[in-house]
Amino acid sequence: MKKLLTIAKDSQIKVSSQITEFLEPENVYLPINIENINNMHKKNVKKGELLYQFDDLNIYSPISGKIVGVLNKKQKYFLVIKNDYHEEDLYKGANEFTTVNIKTDFEEKIKCYANFNWQLLDNAKEIVLNGIEDEPYIANKTFLHCYETSEILQMLDMIARTFKLESILICLKENDRESIEAFNKFLGTYPNILIKILPDYYPIGNEILLRDYLKLSSTSVIFSTEKIYDIYSNVIRERVNDTTFVTITGDAINNPQVFKVKIGSLLQEVIKDNIKIKEKKYDLFVNGIMKRTVAQLEDIIITENIRAVYFMKKRSYLKQDCVHCGKCNEVCPLNCNPYLSYITKKDFNMDNCIRCGLCTFICPSYIEIDDILNKKGDK
Ligand code: SF4
Ligand code: SF4
Repeated sequence: MKKLLTIAKDSQIKVSSQITEFLEPENVYLPINIENINNMHKKNVKKGELLYQFDDLNIYSPISGKIVGVLNKKQKYFLVIKNDYHEEDLYKGANEFTTVNIKTDFEEKIKCYANFNWQLLDNAKEIVLNGIEDEPYIANKTFLHCYETSEILQMLDMIARTFKLESILICLKENDRESIEAFNKFLGTYPNILIKILPDYYPIGNEILLRDYLKLSSTSVIFSTEKIYDIYSNVIRERVNDTTFVTITGDAINNPQVFKVKIGSLLQEVIKDNIKIKEKKYDLFVNGIMKRTVAQLEDIIITENIRAVYFMKKRSYLKQDCVHCGKCNEVCPLNCNPYLSYITKKDFNMDNCIRCGLCTFICPSYIEIDDILNKKGDK
């Protein structure tokens, strides 16, 4: 495996240790395929109601309210639900302390969780929790590890028992001291769970690289912290998880924060009374400054896939000609050929590209190799 890098942190960019809740949006916007639109009449929906499938995922309503229309944003469609603030849900009688009989109820319930392919566990021996936060300044996993520690451990243990797995491994980065401390407090109760501390290399949390680094075989199945928590919410709390964490930070704002947000909220509405933007000109990056996915504020709708938003002072680097140093190739952890791809404007071995952004980060000529990467789409 290639040597990965440790990304130095910029002291101007901070992450707050405070969580701000944004749980009462005026409207929520849920992704929808155009062919499903006609089936969605202007009807009332309850919180947790299954509405339709999108990209093979079940889409539930995160609020109770009324369907009021469809929003078209750059040829992507979103169902608009207006909040009635009644929080009327489908889970009458269930509460978060529901007692589950592991032998009977749980085994049935877990297999009913639709947003995971449980067949992957048929021949598995080990479950691996990927608790690694790769992008600098994102703290979402750390918050989940610290606030929901026993829930995450309980869920891992239950999955291992149900599928008769031999071991459970929790992977954390060495600099994530809060998560390490949080899990260590409980581990005496779970002798089948081990913690593996990994170096602060980027992007070691990528599943391909994590497998490679730990030399995991196909009998190890990797779950993200978020997925385990989502399964917990569904199976134990009997509730659809309708919130997500979003880190909002960057050197163009005064008060970085981690938000617990209703899925489907508009970012503009989330930050309106909570974030002070101090720069007139800024760039907005979604999910990290390494990956550098540029977006416009008014276009951002919070989904489970939006983990962070960076407001960064506009910087003008003097882009220079390629000096053919080859650093972009040297640094690529997936052995792609960003150099030749940039020079020739053709793909050279770019199929494995995971859009980590290391090639752009390392380039002494400030060439944004994103031109090539953007064509590949997110992986
Ligand atoms: S080519 Fe892709 S995988 Fe390789 S360094 Fe660049 S962004 Fe990362
Ligand atoms: S790192 Fe930049 S300057 Fe060096 S070869 Fe790659 S594109 Fe050219």
